[in-house]
Amino acid sequence: MYENDIASVLISEEQIKERTAELAQSVAERYPVGAPEGDLLLIGVLKGAIFFMTDFARALPIPTQMEFMAVSSYGSSTSSSGVVRILKDLDKDIAGRNVLIVEDIIDSGLTLSWLLKNLSTRNPASLEVVTLLRKPEAVKIDVEVKDVGFDIPDEFVVGYGLDYDERYRDLPYIGTLDPKVYSS
Ligand code: 5GP
Repeated sequence: MYENDIASVLISEEQIKERTAELAQSVAERYPVGAPEGDLLLIGVLKGAIFFMTDFARALPIPTQMEFMAVSSYGSSTSSSGVVRILKDLDKDIAGRNVLIVEDIIDSGLTLSWLLKNLSTRNPASLEVVTLLRKPEAVKIDVEVKDVGFDIPDEFVVGYGLDYDERYRDLPYIGTLDPKVYSS
C-alpha cells in the first residue's frame, strides 16, 4: 500500500502493543477503583491519538470513560506554533474528575501546554498525561509527563494515527517518510 513511501519502520506494531500494555499497567496502579472521583476519564486528542486511545483503554485493567477533543495548532504541516483552536470540545463537565489526557505525540509541547492550561480551568480533581511518543530534543516548553511510550529522534513520523496531509494514519506501525513524499 504505502510501503514505497516509508523510509524506515521506527516502532513496530508488536513494540507498540507491548509498550501500551506496560503503560496501562503503570497508569492503572495510580487510580484506585471505586474512588469518589468516579471512573478515570480518558480524553483522547483527535485525530492523531485515535488508535492509541482505543488500544490503551482496552489494555487498562480498570474501568474508564472516554471523551474526545479535537484541536488544531496553527503552523505548517510538520510543525506547530502553539496557537491552538478547539475544533471539537468535550461534551461533558470534567469538574471533580480524575482526568488523563491521551496524546499521540509531544513535539514542541506547545499544544499540550495549552491543553493543560485550558482543562485545568475546568477544575478536574487531577489532570495527567500519557503520550505514546515524545521528541525530547524538540520540547520547547517543559511539560511534566509521567507516562511516555517512546522517546524518538527529532524526525517527522507517520502511522498509528499520525498523518502527513491526512494520509498514513492507518499504518499499524510508526515510520519515517521517504523525503520524496514531501517534495512531490
Ligand atoms: P507540538 O505542539 O507538541 O509541537 O505538536 C503536537 C502536534 O503536532 C501533534 O499532536 C501532532 O498532531 C503534530 N506532530 C508533531 N510531530 C509530529 C510528527 O512527527 N508526525 C506527525 N504526523 N505529526 C506530528
